[in-house]
Amino acid sequence: MIGFVSGGGLGLKRAGPSVRVRGFLGSSVRASHGAARGVRWFATPPVGATSAAEVKMVATAPQVIPRKIGDVVEDFELVREEFVSEYASQARLWKHKKTGTELLSVLNGDENKTFGIVFRTPPKDSTGVPHILEHSVLCGSRKYPVKEPFVELIKSSLNTFLNAFTFPDKTCYPVASCNEQDFYNLVDVYMDAVLHPAMTPDTLRQEGHHFELDDVDGKMTIKGVVYNEMKGAYSDPERVLAEYSQEAIFPDITYGVESGGHPRDIPDLTWEQFKGFHDNYYHPSNARVWFYGDDDESRRLKKVNEFLQEFEKIDISSSAVPLQERWTEPRTVEHTYDCGSEGDSSNKYMTTLNWMLTPMDQTEPAKILALTVLSQLLLSTSASPLRKALTDSGLGEDIVGGGLETDLRQMSFSVGMKGLTEENVAKVQELIEETLTQLSKEGVPQTLMESCLNTLEFRLRENNTGRFPRGLSLMIASLSTWLHESDPLVPLRFEEPLMKLKERLAAGENVFEDLIKENFLTNPHKAAVTMIPDPKYAEKEEAIEQERIDKVAKAASREDLEEIVEMTQRLKEKQAKPDDPTDLAKIPYLSKDDLDKNMKTVPFEEDQISGATVYHHPLPTSGVVYMDLGMDISGVSMELLPLMSLYTESLTQLGTKKEDFVSLQQRIGRETGGLRPSTYMSQLVAADGNGPVVSMLMIRAKAMSSKTTQTFDLLKDILLEPNFDNKERFRQLVVEEKAGVESGIAPSGHTVAAGRLRSQYRVGDWATEQMEGLAYLDYVKALLERVDNDWEGVLGDLQALHSAVVNRSKLVCNVTTDSDVYPGVKAELKSFLDSLPEKSSLQLPSWIDQAPTPTPANEGFIIPAQVNYVGKAMNLLDAGYKLTGASALASKHLGTSYLWDTVRVQGGAYGGFCRLDMRTGDFLYLSYRDPNVNKTLNSYDGAGAFLKSHDISEEELTKSIIGMIGDMDSYALPDAKGFASMTRKITGETDEIRQERREQVLGATAKDFRDFGEALEATKESGSVVVVGSETSLNAAKEEGLDISLSQPL
Ligand SMILES: [Zn+2]
Repeated sequence: MIGFVSGGGLGLKRAGPSVRVRGFLGSSVRASHGAARGVRWFATPPVGATSAAEVKMVATAPQVIPRKIGDVVEDFELVREEFVSEYASQARLWKHKKTGTELLSVLNGDENKTFGIVFRTPPKDSTGVPHILEHSVLCGSRKYPVKEPFVELIKSSLNTFLNAFTFPDKTCYPVASCNEQDFYNLVDVYMDAVLHPAMTPDTLRQEGHHFELDDVDGKMTIKGVVYNEMKGAYSDPERVLAEYSQEAIFPDITYGVESGGHPRDIPDLTWEQFKGFHDNYYHPSNARVWFYGDDDESRRLKKVNEFLQEFEKIDISSSAVPLQERWTEPRTVEHTYDCGSEGDSSNKYMTTLNWMLTPMDQTEPAKILALTVLSQLLLSTSASPLRKALTDSGLGEDIVGGGLETDLRQMSFSVGMKGLTEENVAKVQELIEETLTQLSKEGVPQTLMESCLNTLEFRLRENNTGRFPRGLSLMIASLSTWLHESDPLVPLRFEEPLMKLKERLAAGENVFEDLIKENFLTNPHKAAVTMIPDPKYAEKEEAIEQERIDKVAKAASREDLEEIVEMTQRLKEKQAKPDDPTDLAKIPYLSKDDLDKNMKTVPFEEDQISGATVYHHPLPTSGVVYMDLGMDISGVSMELLPLMSLYTESLTQLGTKKEDFVSLQQRIGRETGGLRPSTYMSQLVAADGNGPVVSMLMIRAKAMSSKTTQTFDLLKDILLEPNFDNKERFRQLVVEEKAGVESGIAPSGHTVAAGRLRSQYRVGDWATEQMEGLAYLDYVKALLERVDNDWEGVLGDLQALHSAVVNRSKLVCNVTTDSDVYPGVKAELKSFLDSLPEKSSLQLPSWIDQAPTPTPANEGFIIPAQVNYVGKAMNLLDAGYKLTGASALASKHLGTSYLWDTVRVQGGAYGGFCRLDMRTGDFLYLSYRDPNVNKTLNSYDGAGAFLKSHDISEEELTKSIIGMIGDMDSYALPDAKGFASMTRKITGETDEIRQERREQVLGATAKDFRDFGEALEATKESGSVVVVGSETSLNAAKEEGLDISLSQPL
């Protein structure tokens, strides 16, 4: 994937594919892991909002022209047709007569139209060829000969999704938009990119790998975007474990190599291999094309046919993924990994047990569904028996392994633990086996089964994909069979398999017990993978890299070296050279007239019930009730503030006075679609950017409307009768929390740097840092000792926090549901609110008054990684600058032009971007998986001058405006709309302010960009720097003169 984040948040919240997928845009998709427990196959998306068979959807569905099997339209022959009631969709499979390309056309009323072209791209080695190609085809094409058409589209389209993913066996190019013309513009650029890329050996050098040498006597290095991206990926121990776990059970086929590329192998990739891979696999005969949404079908066929006409059919059998032969004996595999050079590494072993299961395309859908439920049942919550057994054992710090995996041709299952001593490795493996044996003998408890089944059914029907378009979630599900010449529609159907499973359970069949025996206990295709911590790992890798460089340098004649210098310069010049305006003009975009002049509003009603403010958003949710409860936490004292995260978790993880946490967790699963407390932090809108802090305990719950009473009963139990007095369980939570924070630092160092920088400017952000940042890590370490030595004290703190927080007087409640459902919810809500205590005044002192004055400072944090995350912050209002809608526009432009070019393309980082906080005027630069430190900081400092002198053309301006409006109108499902509307209400961001900003965006001029540049220029000296990165880089940066204090948080 390409390291860039579309839309707003940098959060690494996962949406999208669950295998180790590399997406073109780094953090917008989850970039790896065995940690997530996503249910993939049945097209269930990760997080969030509405039901499948939406009546609305059918009503607004496009006119579907009736067709017969065998009909030919635009040289496509209809080969299969079926109505998929689960998604109210007419699905048609077409086959292109000339090339054999298959096109799945899904017709329904969803305005968020999606398209994807997918190639089967099984690699034979770990040089990362599919991944580097994924990057490279987006670097200009026949029709669009500019450096990065992809970036142009990000800048100038209304896309709701734009990215590219490399899976272990396929490469996907998906787009989405709610505007039909915009959608087809995106499709056109993507089709041309994949079929006619303008790749040269220099493209491979830039995106893959090359030797860099500035002068003949200088120091040679290896650079390349993917090279660096994968160095970053290999600094994430859990990702490495997941990759090795997959490779271990598929040693003989394509899944046994790294499709993303191993840093050690990437430099072996030659141009011939690279070009050959494209010629063989990026051919229409090897492609699958997906369309979904409310656009006209004949337009789909016509557009694709235009591109296919010039190709002839080829034999694609070489891209087929063979089956891994089943073993007769289990195996064991060991690898070393980078655990950092400092500190005690003796308890940093990790291990997983991995089983290869049956192939997707040879398994009954009902059985796959049952396996999905089984995986949830074993691992999904803290009450799940396998997870609980591992956690309770105290053998390690936390669970690893993703459970059931259904994205590859053969299913697999992986589970294990991290934070182990060497001797506990075998014990964990034994415990997993024992627990499975015991479950198969003693049976799975009925309450657990009901809870898991309800959770899965809710997810399937709600079909809430969050920000990831629903159509793409279905595409990825469909590919799990379609890619292997099997029925693409099977993964979209769940009603029948669900019914069958329920029938079998009702008949008393031992469904899960039998599955455990068959798939785990008697399955010899099992690999135990152990990761051994190696404090010298990074050193060794650096030595291997250096050896490779030395070998080349030694063998090179002076002419050879001159050639490398010349190539280095040529690459840099190419990267720095602006695109020809006439070429840029070829990229299609909408006109300003196509844009809506008015901002989008979310309907709402406001009520006062029992002293609380209640908002209701009447939106079609198919009977799901989404509820957010916000309770003011400004009455919490400064000492107790860092405990907030663990306190919120304790509410659902420690049980209540009525039941233990296992029973509570199962009840949440049985009665709701999820219930999650967390902390919310923001500040009121104010002209000077210094509005008061808004801080809340936010409980977000969702359930079918028929379960409203049960949901309120749960909330009452949690808020009125919590039981914090469970030392052992709380200790487990602290241990997991510590492991979670620690393992989050390396893969998302940019988030860590951003949080740290923000905390230097705002009290609210300082609080967030105390509750989840690096400061929090210190707190959690100390808390662990306190739990052991002073449990009474900790318990007292939890109780004090609880009584400072639970209060109805400043409570905000937000309900998003169908208008006819709301009256019933309202009646129940009143009785719930009446049961909460009302406290007239806040308990003082408040952390807001006690907190230290935020102070900017340069800080460097050394972590075990081969890459850096470089951040810089400043406040633009300090220079007398006034924020307008155009400020956000200029900031976005900076990210997609100057920073992309200097930090990513020229610097070799995976991403370089910036964030402007429209409430405060705080401005942040950030880089992602960056080989540099000072060079990146120099780029940041040049940004103001760039914008000041940048004479933006009318066309470029229009494109930026379109892209910005696209961001402002980003597509959201009802729960997200309702939540956003509420947060705007409680922070004073009125519709008038939003409309004014929109008008400022629409009316922006070149002067706005220059003014923004002035403000950056004026504040750059006052800014502060935070770098999270490798010891070598940070020390070097310091030696070169960067004034920064270094520490080692891990
Ligand atoms: Zn990538």
